[in-house]
Amino acid sequence: MRARRRGLSAQYRFPETGTRFLLYPQARTVRGFELPRLVRLAARPGTIGPGPRDARLEVIDALHKAPYRAPGTGEYVWRPPYPRSKPRRRRVRPSAQGHFDHLVPGTPAFAAAATFAAAACALDVWEHYLGRLRFRLNPRQRRFELIPRVRRLGDNAYSGVGYVEFGFAHADPRQPYCENLDVVAHEVGHHILRAVLGPTPTGETALEHKAHAEAAADLVSLVVVLHFDRVVSHLLEQTRGKLYSENVASQIGEFRDEWSGRLGARTAFHDRRLEDVARARRKGDFHAYGRPFLGAAYEVLVEIYESHLVRRELISPRLARRSSRATARARRSLRGAFAARFRLNPDGFGDALRDATADFARLLAAAWTATRGQPATFARVARNLVRADRRLTSGRYGRIIRHAFGERGIATGSRRA
Ligand SMILES: [Zn+2]
Repeated sequence: MRARRRGLSAQYRFPETGTRFLLYPQARTVRGFELPRLVRLAARPGTIGPGPRDARLEVIDALHKAPYRAPGTGEYVWRPPYPRSKPRRRRVRPSAQGHFDHLVPGTPAFAAAATFAAAACALDVWEHYLGRLRFRLNPRQRRFELIPRVRRLGDNAYSGVGYVEFGFAHADPRQPYCENLDVVAHEVGHHILRAVLGPTPTGETALEHKAHAEAAADLVSLVVVLHFDRVVSHLLEQTRGKLYSENVASQIGEFRDEWSGRLGARTAFHDRRLEDVARARRKGDFHAYGRPFLGAAYEVLVEIYESHLVRRELISPRLARRSSRATARARRSLRGAFAARFRLNPDGFGDALRDATADFARLLAAAWTATRGQPATFARVARNLVRADRRLTSGRYGRIIRHAFGERGIATGSRRA
């Protein structure tokens, strides 16, 4: 059993005894992430069969496949299940001991296993915070389909009822999106959110609900990648412990997403407010419209992290206050102060970020669960974050949450601490 920490749980850790897979926790083109890393899924060795597949997920390495939804419009052309009669590669088999880390990078078998590993580890992480989830399937479909490589998708990743499927970065066959954990976790994130929040409402709130879903799928993926020690140490070394910085945000995830066809680079670090995206709202561009929510949520994560640094006496309360209040320009001048502290105890900073990620995930999970069945408007989810925090931590982060969302023009409608 894990020790409970004042209402919040510890960060999910991949179990030592789990089934071994290899994956790339970031795009292989990012320096420091050229090599595949080991991940242990929660499933016991021997319980993941050829495919790979388990009771819920299966990789179908389809050949010459037409996308289920038309890349231009998002309209369904056809739907899962992928028929038995259609061409596909042979199922990837586990090793004699039931693991999948024997596969050679660069082969289709490796890509198939990495896709499974990314989707399953996103589920392992989020089910730790949300409880057991069920994905929606089509009639006659028994498992959720993961389709690693669909040439005709080009520079896109798509998902719909019962499946996710992936194209290639810059339409380059050497850069399959299915091998990028961040991209897979974003797409699987849409299905996790659908399972928690329920269907997209019709009418006036539909656009905001979808805009929230885009931001939220980015948050799902951000939380997943922050469960990799390699990513945590890389981020902290890059930023010298100061997470208010452009490079973190731009490092994580850059891909085209679903039917908007827009470049979906993560833009979590920015100062955009709701009024700045009014045009996006008018045009129905829900990716851009969700950015203030994403920016505010990212700020909450960073503030929680800095409060853990203070609690661990890694930075002074004064430095944390200066950091919170600083404008974008002044934040840059604080980098030196952070770098000096980071050098003294980089592992302490790593622990603080892991704790902050767990707190953040727990709060998001509680807020989304409370939103279930209602339109996920920005204000409703933000309000539910404040409430979740009151319940789980007696309001430790209330001020942080209200401030971050308030600054972006998203009212939490609550003044109580
Ligand atoms: Zn998306």
